[in-house]
Amino acid sequence: MSGSVEAGRDPEFDVVVVGSGAGGMVAAIRAHDQGLSALVVEKTDKFGGTSAMSGGGIWVPNTEQSKKAGFKDSPEEAFEYVKAAAQGRVPESRIRAYLENALKLERWLDENTHLHYLVVPKYPDYYAWLPGAKPGYRTMEPRRFDARKLGDELKNLRIPTNLISMAGASMSQIDAYVMVSKQPGWMLLVLWRVLGYWTDFPWRLKSKVDRRMTMGTAMAASLRASMLDRKIPLWLNTPFEDLIVEDGRVVGITAKQGGKTIRIRARRGVILAAGGFERNQEMREKYLPKPTDSHWPVTPPEANTGDAIAAGIKAGAAVDLMDMLWGVPVVGEPGGPSQRALFVERSLPGSVMVNKFGKRFVNEALAYPDLVNEIYKDKEKTGGGVPAWLIIDADFRRKYLFGPLMPGSIQPDSRLPKDWLGKVFFRANTLDELADQIGVDKAGLKDTIARMNQYAKEGVDPEFHRGRDPIDLYYGDSTNKPNPCLAPIAKPPFYALQVYPGDTGTKGGLLTDEHAQVLTEAGQPIPGLYAIGNTSASVMGPSYPGPGSTLGPAVTFGWVAANHIASVAAAESNSGVIARNAAE
Ligand code: FAD
Repeated sequence: MSGSVEAGRDPEFDVVVVGSGAGGMVAAIRAHDQGLSALVVEKTDKFGGTSAMSGGGIWVPNTEQSKKAGFKDSPEEAFEYVKAAAQGRVPESRIRAYLENALKLERWLDENTHLHYLVVPKYPDYYAWLPGAKPGYRTMEPRRFDARKLGDELKNLRIPTNLISMAGASMSQIDAYVMVSKQPGWMLLVLWRVLGYWTDFPWRLKSKVDRRMTMGTAMAASLRASMLDRKIPLWLNTPFEDLIVEDGRVVGITAKQGGKTIRIRARRGVILAAGGFERNQEMREKYLPKPTDSHWPVTPPEANTGDAIAAGIKAGAAVDLMDMLWGVPVVGEPGGPSQRALFVERSLPGSVMVNKFGKRFVNEALAYPDLVNEIYKDKEKTGGGVPAWLIIDADFRRKYLFGPLMPGSIQPDSRLPKDWLGKVFFRANTLDELADQIGVDKAGLKDTIARMNQYAKEGVDPEFHRGRDPIDLYYGDSTNKPNPCLAPIAKPPFYALQVYPGDTGTKGGLLTDEHAQVLTEAGQPIPGLYAIGNTSASVMGPSYPGPGSTLGPAVTFGWVAANHIASVAAAESNSGVIARNAAE
């Protein structure tokens, strides 16, 4: 929308941030600390977005913590790795800006906010074969955050419904690793966490949510608490509608509030942090590989419909990577509005993924975004693939998590809701019967499982190399020999889950430069307009280098955008706003 905002009549801020995910909140906090006034507008009645439902991990190589632990890494290796992963789709200046600023941001968050990160030693990069890849120490996760610090604002926090939970107790990424891969002491850890949760008496009477927040919940809550400290306003239920452009410069936004359109002036800049377009079926059909469905994401159901991307395009912005997803295989969540991501089941021994011909087409333990790409490739190549099927036997069912089913040792079939059978999961006493139920070729399935059983004995998968790379083994069962990712699928009954190529958001968006400024097709910045997170085309190009590759850039470029706005403001007005970014 072009037009004007009336100074003195419409609300005015230096910086208007659209979207209250982690990147948006970091941008607002940093803008405030640079001497600028900031507002965050949020479409839904909850703050936090997908960021609050996530693992909260950020991918930041070469941190002080990794150095202190004696881990060998270097900025050049990190750069070489991302450059190789990005496959020439991202300018080097942007990759360098990410790596340099992510480090500074992590330190700044630690010193200035409630968000403190802990390095995750064993979470490996996803592409061990690329130059500069490392087996760990590049991912960080939020330290636990005490929900009491949020006060009444807790009621407005988006609470994840679809992460693994231990009887209500929250778990960290390190907990999840210890538990899923059965590291020594895992049972004690589970017991400790569950006890901690149920004996947290005063709080237990107040809320079902674990007071000791972890992962994305800790990230969103601690950032919001940092906004509260600074009295930075957050307007919930205020969906952004359009940009206001005057003389080629973005000077504000229009948004809906209480059914009315309001205009908000942004004296220095607008930062679009409104996620991707995964919940917009029309945009999915236009840009993404088919079939595609806006019900497949594991993100907040009503939130990210590409509003900011569409407004950016209208204002003349270029886009990139629009045909790509932050893919994750998903299964339908029973009774839920959303899907459940299959992060771990595919690596655990005794599972196999097949297409409708009963054939494997992928290393099931592959990093989740790449697995989704392989589902689509199989669909192209063979016509199989969508949906795919994850098949297990009774041994797997007893020991491990299987989509929404807790291990049978905790939640046997008799304790599952009756209507899940044949809907959420399928079960049969023979492979032939199971194949009939799910419409998969019988001979193909039997042949595949006979091969898998042979590979399990030998501990080597010569077809797809499951259980070879560090990322495969991360969620394998360390007690399973000879290969933590391979076990026979032999004991009836057999089970199946229907798997779709879902996502944790879309990867493409507005093209930005190393300052997070939105660019036109001609490569010129649109004055006053910035985009971060999934509203921008990813700095990682078509790849997902390691755990934390979406949130790391989202928060980093939020910080970068605020720094840039402050430095432009200082240069333009010389009015006492001091840009400190150069010094930090
Ligand atoms: P969001 O966090 O979704 O924030 C966008 C916000 O904008 C939302 O609050 C939305 O309501 C709001 N909004 C949308 N439209 C409008 C509008 N018109 N007006 C105003 N507001 C609007 N990534 C990692 O890097 N590390 C992980 O550990 C990780 N784990 C994950 C685990 C799960 C289960 C899931 C689902 C995702 C995970 N991800 C992880 C992915 C990551 O969470 C997302 O990629 C990231 O949160 C996207 O950030 P964002 O700021 O772009 O979007």
